[in-house]
Amino acid sequence: MIVNDKIKKLADKYHENKFSHAFLLVTNNLSKCSNDIKELIKIISCPNNFEENCQKCNLCYQIDKNLISNIVQINPDGTNIKKNQIQELKHFFMTKPILIKNNIYIINSAEKLNPSAANTMLKFIEEPEDNIIGFLITTNKENVLDTIKSRCQIINVNYSNINNLELLNISENEYLTIENLVIKYLDGLITKYEDGFFLNRIIFTSDNKNRKQIIDFFTYLFYLFDDLINGKEILKFEFLKKIPYNNFKKIQRIIFNILESLFFNTNLDLVLDKFVIEMEELI
Ligand SMILES: [Zn+2]
Repeated sequence: MIVNDKIKKLADKYHENKFSHAFLLVTNNLSKCSNDIKELIKIISCPNNFEENCQKCNLCYQIDKNLISNIVQINPDGTNIKKNQIQELKHFFMTKPILIKNNIYIINSAEKLNPSAANTMLKFIEEPEDNIIGFLITTNKENVLDTIKSRCQIINVNYSNINNLELLNISENEYLTIENLVIKYLDGLITKYEDGFFLNRIIFTSDNKNRKQIIDFFTYLFYLFDDLINGKEILKFEFLKKIPYNNFKKIQRIIFNILESLFFNTNLDLVLDKFVIEMEELI
């Protein structure tokens, strides 16, 4: 399953025929991003209506096992990606794809394309054949050559790296989206299966979340309550029904104040614990 929402959206774009021929994915986790791209490739290539763990076709299986010759992954050969690796790719893609609709390449660590490899790459990106799609992945956008950046659609693909979440019964595939994290946190607070301060420690502190990530978290929470106030989402989560409707606005106000404090250089633990204390009056 695709973990990252932005990559999920790309599948829709593909089916709406709004797909670029080259993407630069800027990520904080190369292997997770690479896995998500592989999932995306299955979705856009599956001859059946793709469903999770597609069992209908041999093709998804072959993509999983890297057996499709029209899908090429390039990794740095030593410290960088060399010109001959790109030349090979070009040569290889001169034939039309057979099993799947597109020839697809994935370049892991695109910042390691050495200048001559990048030059070879440029023409390839600039004058793509109809059926070639490229995914360039990097954890270091600054070091990707500008000429490459300007020819790709750039997408930021971030993953949270949360440890200790087994404590919350969050499975590995599940916990990575901010939405899941927010829901688990709220559920924990409201149904009180964990002490709120403890929740703060495992979700925020032990994972060394930075201020920006915590702000994103509370921003998401803020908009969730917007939806709740407007009567949306409420039925989706059983535990939310425990909060009196009249309190939604008050809670949103608290979230707003927390966000405000987070923008200043206040002690994170204090702010987070204040949130728990104030929430406890309303849930
Ligand atoms: Zn399939």
